[in-house]
Amino acid sequence: MNKKTDASTICKMKALTYTGAGRFELIDKPKPSIIDTDDAVIRITLASICSSDLHILHGAVPQARSGITVGHEMVGVVEATGSGVTKVKPGDRVAVNVETFCGDCFYCRRGYVNNCTSGGWHLGCRIDGGQAEYVRVPYADNGLTPIPHNVSNEEALFVGDILATGYWAAKISEITEEDTVLIIGAGPTGLCTLECVRLYRPRHIVVCESDEVRRRFVHEHYPETVVVAPQECSDVLGNLTDSRGADRVIEVAGSEDTFRMAWERARPNAIVTIVALYESAQTLPLPDMYGKNLTFKTGGVDACDCDIIMQLISEGRIRTSHLITHRYPLSRIGEAYTIFADKADNVIKTAIHPD
Ligand SMILES: [Zn+2]
Ligand SMILES: [Zn+2]
Repeated sequence: MNKKTDASTICKMKALTYTGAGRFELIDKPKPSIIDTDDAVIRITLASICSSDLHILHGAVPQARSGITVGHEMVGVVEATGSGVTKVKPGDRVAVNVETFCGDCFYCRRGYVNNCTSGGWHLGCRIDGGQAEYVRVPYADNGLTPIPHNVSNEEALFVGDILATGYWAAKISEITEEDTVLIIGAGPTGLCTLECVRLYRPRHIVVCESDEVRRRFVHEHYPETVVVAPQECSDVLGNLTDSRGADRVIEVAGSEDTFRMAWERARPNAIVTIVALYESAQTLPLPDMYGKNLTFKTGGVDACDCDIIMQLISEGRIRTSHLITHRYPLSRIGEAYTIFADKADNVIKTAIHPD
């Protein structure tokens, strides 16, 4: 053939692409390049699958654009930077932030980067994400976190998404050393929340989880944490708190039952932080709750503390690589999706590496 064909072959890459409700396909796409001066292009060395990817697969994320590369949890090596990028340079290892944010609008200046007027959850939803060989990251100075030498790719993999979420959830819950904190749900985000709640050294942490395998996982890795099944939660909390209930509740599970549990198990004047993403509307039965005087905090992660999280990992104060239970090459990402979606083989998180 000719030179032109060779060149276009070199510039192609594999990318898991949302091709319509219920369908992801690993297809060839052009390798991304710098478009804006604040962009960076990252060669991905490790990616993961998040339950939000499954929501897109099920057609439950209306803002997800057909044709985009999915994936928003990844680490990699900076390949190229635009002229306006100052924080990273080619060759740097970085974690990629799930959120794209300008850093300068009304919300960004107040740390509410989830509501950035020109950002939000874009990667792997509105623009091409990271279950691919390369990704373009806009606002690279905000969206990339350098990985220190003593932190591995696996240790850094969750910094930009589920660990950012756990850190944010613990931070806005205003936890003190006097508190008994109830975390509902010990899936990947619940476990990241547990890692971050521990930083505040509350008097007791109680993790409530319906799945026995996951309860065992918490017990094994966090022996000082109280782990309960939903039916035991009320009694155990009662014993720990003179029957008052939890001072702080963080709901990460996302079902109707767990939403109800969140406000029922909270003591009067508690803070209830809702991290979970529900598939249907939830009801606050205000007459039943009258007099409990609860403070609810809800929403999506403001992922603006990734540098602090990375530092905590480097100091050994946060560790999450034990959440990676399965590893697959990109060419077999379909198998990784199946096992993750079915919660098969005691999976917590899968890691996807280049072929
Ligand atoms: Zn996610
Ligand atoms: Zn902004």
